[in-house]
Amino acid sequence: MSETRNIVFLGASYAGISATHYFLKHAYPHLPSSPTVNYKVILINASPKFYQRHASPRAIASASLLAHDRLFVDIEPGFAQYGDKVQFLVAKATSWDPEKRILHLSNAEGKDIAISYHALVLATGSKTASLTQSSFGNSHAEIEAALTAINEQVASAKSIVIAGGGPAGVETAGEIAEHLNGSPGWFQSRPSNRTAKITLLTSAPRLLPALRPSLAAQAARDLERLGVEVQYNTKVTSAAPSGSRQTTLTLSDDQTLTADLYLPATGTTPLTSYAPPALLSASGHLLTNPHTLRLSEGKLVYALGDVTSFSRGSIPEINAQVPVLASNLQRDLLAAHGDLGAEPEGEDRRYEAETRELQLVPVGRRRGVGALWGWWVPSWFVWLVKGRDFMVGAGREKVFGKAEEREVKWTGS
Ligand SMILES: Cc1cc2nc3c(=O)[nH]c(=O)nc-3n(C[C@H](O)[C@H](O)[C@H](O)COP(=O)(O)OP(=O)(O)OC[C@H]3O[C@@H](n4cnc5c(N)ncnc54)[C@H](O)[C@@H]3O)c2cc1C
Repeated sequence: MSETRNIVFLGASYAGISATHYFLKHAYPHLPSSPTVNYKVILINASPKFYQRHASPRAIASASLLAHDRLFVDIEPGFAQYGDKVQFLVAKATSWDPEKRILHLSNAEGKDIAISYHALVLATGSKTASLTQSSFGNSHAEIEAALTAINEQVASAKSIVIAGGGPAGVETAGEIAEHLNGSPGWFQSRPSNRTAKITLLTSAPRLLPALRPSLAAQAARDLERLGVEVQYNTKVTSAAPSGSRQTTLTLSDDQTLTADLYLPATGTTPLTSYAPPALLSASGHLLTNPHTLRLSEGKLVYALGDVTSFSRGSIPEINAQVPVLASNLQRDLLAAHGDLGAEPEGEDRRYEAETRELQLVPVGRRRGVGALWGWWVPSWFVWLVKGRDFMVGAGREKVFGKAEEREVKWTGS
C-alpha cells in the first residue's frame, strides 16, 4: 500500500500563499514518484479569504475610498490549478505536538481535526490591536464588520488619536486626515476646513524609523499639511473608555488626552498560541534559523514571514524568503525520501536579510515618501506604485501565484 506524506503549510496570507505556490511549481515536480510513497500538500488557513491588510489604512478611513470587498480574495480557486496535489482547509490550529508530528485543528463548525505531517511550514503571521489591521479573523465578515464600525466612528469623530510612528500609523493618519479635512489649496499650509483634530503620537523622536531622517521629516511635513499634529517622544501608557463613546489616554508624560476615536498602530503580536513555549522566543515568535528558515528544533519544520524570530514585518522580506524555503524543503525531502533520518549533503540555500532602505509610505491620497533598495524615490512614484489604490488589484494575482511562476534560480547544491 502506498504511504501518503503530508506537506502542511499553516497560514495562507502573504507568506503561506506564496510559499505554497512556489513549492508546488518549482520543488514538488522534483520529488520522486514512487509506487510506495506519494506527497500531498495541505494548505490551512483560519479564514477562506486572503485579507490585504497592507491596504487597511485607506479602508479604515472610508469604504468610499476603498471598497472593503476589494481587500478580500477567495483562496481556494487560486489552488485549483494543481488538481489533487493540494488540498485547502479552512481551520484554526489550536495545538501542535512536534513529537508525534500532529497538528490539532478546529474547523468552521467547531469540529476538532488532527492532521499528521511529514513536513510542516509555519506562516501564521501576526495580529494587531485592531482586527482591521490583522490578517487573522474567524471570518472575513468579522473583519468587514470591524472596518464598517471604524468607518462610522471616523465619520462622526471630532478628535482622533493614532498611536505609532511607523508606516501603519503614518498611513492611517494621512488617509483619515485627507478624508475628513481635505487637502490644502496651492497657497495654504493647512486645510481650511478642519472637521476633526487628528493627533499622531510616537514614542520615538521621529517618524518612520526604517527610512532616513530627511524622509521622516518630509512625511511629518506632509501630515501637517493635512492637518495632523505629530507629537514625538510620547507613549500611550493606558487607554480607558470614558463617557459613552470616548477614550481617555494616559501618556508617558502623565498628561491625559480624551479622543472620540483612538487607533493604536504600535506594532504586532505573533500568532503562535498553538506552539509549545519551548519553541518560542521571549517575544512569542517561532525560534527560526534566519538563514535556512528551519525551526531551531525539529526535523522538516520551517517558518517564514511575520511569525519568525528574525522578522522585520515586510512583504518584500517574505518574497525573498520564499525561494530559500522551497529549496531547503526540497533538499530535506529528497534526502529523507528513502531514509527518514537522512540529512541532505552540501550547502543549504541561505536567506540574507535586506539591510537597505525598502519602504513606500503614502501620506494621504496624493503624496508619499519612500526608498527602494537604498535609492530615494519621489513622491509621485510612491503614489504611482502604492498610493493610487494600495495595490489591491494585485491581490488576485497573489492568490493565483502569478509572481511565483518565475523561478528564482539557485546555483548551489
Ligand atoms: C496596517 C499594516 C500595513 C502594512 N503595510 C505594509 C506594506 O505596505 N508593505 C509591506 O511590505 N508590509 C506591510 N505590512 C506588513 C505586512 O502586512 C506583514 O509583513 C505581512 O502581513 C506578513 O505576512 P504573513 O503571511 O507572515 O502573516 P499574516 O499576514 O499575519 O498572515 C497570517 C495568516 O495565518 C493565519 N493564521 C494565523 N494563526 C492561525 C492558526 N492558528 N490557524 C490557522 N491559520 C492561522 C491567518 O488567518 C493569516 O491568514 C503592514 C502591516 C500592517 C499591520
